[in-house]
Amino acid sequence: MIVVLTGAPGAGKGTQADLLASQGGYRKVSTGDALRKHVRTKSPIGLQAEAVMARGELVSDEILFQILREELGPDSQEKILLDGYPRNVAQAQTLDSLKEMHPVVVAIHLDVDSVELVTRLSGRRVCSSCGATYHVSMTPSKISGICDKCGGALQQRTDDREESVRTRLSVYESMTKPVLEYYRGKGLYHRVDGKGSTQDVFRKLVGSLDGLSLS
Ligand code: AMP
Repeated sequence: MIVVLTGAPGAGKGTQADLLASQGGYRKVSTGDALRKHVRTKSPIGLQAEAVMARGELVSDEILFQILREELGPDSQEKILLDGYPRNVAQAQTLDSLKEMHPVVVAIHLDVDSVELVTRLSGRRVCSSCGATYHVSMTPSKISGICDKCGGALQQRTDDREESVRTRLSVYESMTKPVLEYYRGKGLYHRVDGKGSTQDVFRKLVGSLDGLSLS
C-alpha cells in the first residue's frame, strides 16, 4: 500500500519520509532522489532530465512512469511512502492504474505557507557526499560548509537557487495543487500542519498515521 506524502517544495516531505522510514515499517520512494541519481550517473534518463530539473520544471510523465515502476517494485505487501509523486492529475491517474498491486490508502498534505517555504528552500544546503540536509540558519552544520556526519562539502542544490525556486513554487500552484482536490474527491486527503520543528511535525505526522488505522 502507498501513503502519498504531498506538499510544496520545501514543505519537508523528504525529511519526514526519511524519519518515518528509519522508524521501520515504511520504505521511502522519492522520485526526486531517483532522478538525481540518474543525473549523477549520467544515465539516458539523467541526461534528458538534468536541465529540466535545474530550471525547476517537471520532468515528462513518461520518464516518471518508468521511474515509478522501477522504484515501486513488485512487492504488494510493502508499505511505501511516496515522496514527490504524483505532481499532476495525470500522474495521480497513472498511480491509480497500479492500484491492484499498490493502492493509495491516504494522501497526506504537509501544509506550509509560502513565506516559510522560500526561507527553507533558499537556506537549504545538502552534503555532496552523503546527502545529509542542513539549513544555514535553522539547522546549521557545526563548521560552516562542512557536513557534521561525514566531513563532505555542503552545496546548494541547483534548483534551490532563487530563479528555480520561483518556478518550482509556481509549478506547484498550477500543476500539483489540483492533485490535493483529486484526493479530496476520493476521500483520501488528510492535512498535517507542516510548520514547526522537524520533531514537532514528525509527532503530528505519526499521530495522524496512527489515527488513520491504515491497512
Ligand atoms: P524533489 O526532490 O521532489 O523536489 O524533485 C526535484 C525535481 O525532480 C523536481 O523539481 C522535478 O524537476 C523533478 N521531479 C521529481 N518528481 C517529479 C514528478 N513526479 N514529476 C515530474 N518531475 C518530477
